[in-house]
Amino acid sequence: MTAHARLEDNDEEILGPSGFDGLGLTRESIRAVRAVGYETPSPIQAAFIPLAVSGRDGIGQARTGTGKTAAFVLPALERIDADCLDPQVLCMTPTRELSEQVAEEARRLSRTRPVFVATCVGGKKINQQIAALQKGAQIIVGTPGRVIDLLNRGLLKLHTLKLVVLDEADRMLDIGFRPDIERILKQCPSDRQTLLLSATIPPPVERLAQRYMRDPERVNLSADQVVVHTVDQYYVTVDPRRKLEALVKLLFHVRPRQAIVFCRTKRGADKLHSRLLTRLPHIAAIHGDLAQSARDRAMKNFREGKVRLLIATDVVGRGIDVSGVSHIINYDVPEFSDDYVHRVGRTGRLSSGDIGMAFTFVANDEGDQLTGIEMKINKLLDRFVVPGYEVEERKRATTVLSATPSADSAPGNERWQNDPDLEAFTPAPKKPELPEEDFGEGLE
Ligand code: AMP
Repeated sequence: MTAHARLEDNDEEILGPSGFDGLGLTRESIRAVRAVGYETPSPIQAAFIPLAVSGRDGIGQARTGTGKTAAFVLPALERIDADCLDPQVLCMTPTRELSEQVAEEARRLSRTRPVFVATCVGGKKINQQIAALQKGAQIIVGTPGRVIDLLNRGLLKLHTLKLVVLDEADRMLDIGFRPDIERILKQCPSDRQTLLLSATIPPPVERLAQRYMRDPERVNLSADQVVVHTVDQYYVTVDPRRKLEALVKLLFHVRPRQAIVFCRTKRGADKLHSRLLTRLPHIAAIHGDLAQSARDRAMKNFREGKVRLLIATDVVGRGIDVSGVSHIINYDVPEFSDDYVHRVGRTGRLSSGDIGMAFTFVANDEGDQLTGIEMKINKLLDRFVVPGYEVEERKRATTVLSATPSADSAPGNERWQNDPDLEAFTPAPKKPELPEEDFGEGLE
């Protein structure tokens, strides 16, 4: 036994057993999770890691925020032959941001070994990515479009792959990546392992799995249940003509530590952003039409807490994993109820321990969409009234429950109140935005 190995054994004796023991991971990986501070595996990790390290194909139904990245990154690292610099793992994700997050997790968890990770995403200079590939990288993380681009140029070879991961498969198919994904999968070795992660398994994902996976084993950590238990969810009936004012009033009331406001279209997100710019500090917008540098800047500032309110569209917003997000506001009711689950999953993050809050603005003629969401999550949303912006509700099939969130209970509220930068968001105590009693009445 080498001195190096003895030292590591000794470390383990001192630190005692890890919650990650018994999942089939090597001690190298257990040391890595310990080093990043993970003590116990999340449910998806406990269920998915043993399946993935067994070498079988696997489908994990889980959303971002449940620790799903490490659930496939740790088994992926186990497959890497560090002496060889050829691509061994390919992970595809729907967005550049998600690719960066996955690559970051892979780098964090592989610090103890000589593993190189290359990101291949659109909107970034391709030359740097080519240079990283030419230097040698065992893990390639990227969006399907850029992966195809690099394949076409003959700069990326897939015949050495041992594992392919399709992360957020439902969203990749939603945004039209199916042809690219299929072309890529056809070039991968047929004896590879394939892991598929998806918050939902609609028929197109099922068909992809049937075509390109071999008798996959399934782990279902239903996203809906996670969301229902970790986020207080409300709907707000709004007059479409007064939505902006209702949003501002709501923000003053709930005083989020950090919030994401979801819009349905890129144009809608831009419009809301420009209208709010004059009213609120620390805001930014992020959507697919913005230059990559602007997207990166917005994400960096949001991650660092410099941006408190991020206005986003579904495609870009859904992968955001920022632990400070206390509130989600669906300014536009999501078009598909699956999107609701993804949006709301941006709060109630596993790392913060707080209960997040989600508000969905619904116009009177959008009752059906609201009912669709409630059926999807198998839960009635509570009604929340923004004082001064009450709208008489058309009768819906569901019963309206009572909701009593208070500004005090809003996660991170103390930080919000104590932050001098946030005066424009936070009504001064002596001159409140609304008379106190209005708030009281408003909370049904
Ligand atoms: P993900 O769902 O992969 O986006 O992970 C959400 C967040 O949870 C990330 O910030 C991870 O660093 C964190 N995380 C993942 N696994 C664990 C764990 N076992 N214990 C604590 N935090 C974790």
